[in-house]
Amino acid sequence: MNSKFVLWLNLTLLFLQVTSSCCKKCNEKKIVRRYSISEKELLEKKKLMLLLDLDNTIIGSTELEVEIYDFQVNEMYVCLREGYKIFLMNMAKKYVIGIHTNGSQEYADAVVKHLDPEKNYITAGVFSSRNSHSLKKSTDEFNSYFKHEIPENMIQIVDDQPKVWVIKDQPKIHRVSPWNPYQIFDDCDELDKNHLTFVQENLLAFHHDFFDE
Ligand SMILES: [Mg+2]
Repeated sequence: MNSKFVLWLNLTLLFLQVTSSCCKKCNEKKIVRRYSISEKELLEKKKLMLLLDLDNTIIGSTELEVEIYDFQVNEMYVCLREGYKIFLMNMAKKYVIGIHTNGSQEYADAVVKHLDPEKNYITAGVFSSRNSHSLKKSTDEFNSYFKHEIPENMIQIVDDQPKVWVIKDQPKIHRVSPWNPYQIFDDCDELDKNHLTFVQENLLAFHHDFFDE
């Protein structure tokens, strides 16, 4: 092998290494930037953050074979809660929305594809508690996973089960009546107005007060 060829070969290999390393860094940046949301960004957009639960809050599901359902995810039959679309549409105007669920990541991702196929509303990330070792849900965990930097007072939560959240996050919770067409709840009163529309009004009022409009 002549020396010119060896030199050319070495330079080519060096070029490929540098290019590959740059692309890797770019891709890493893209992954982080995909979700990372800052306080400054939210204040500029006049938005807050909303973390939503999935099961019995936005959807109801069952493993049993049923005839009435909206879609299937793996072995689960899933029904969408009435008013979920208008709720997401209205909330997305005032909040960046993330999902924090006790379901598996695969299940949550598949459900969100049906809830928001164009990714217009749920833009802050989909997080499964099974990714963590913590026994309870927490906003800190969600934000640290997606590298969001958002102060406590700019976050609100909607969940049918407040007890699954850490004590620190309790004041942020808007409890919605548990809803699942395949299940009967002892604590679900038909006259209870704690449904999505009621919760939506409270969230809009919280947003209004925060920005003192
Ligand atoms: Mg739930």
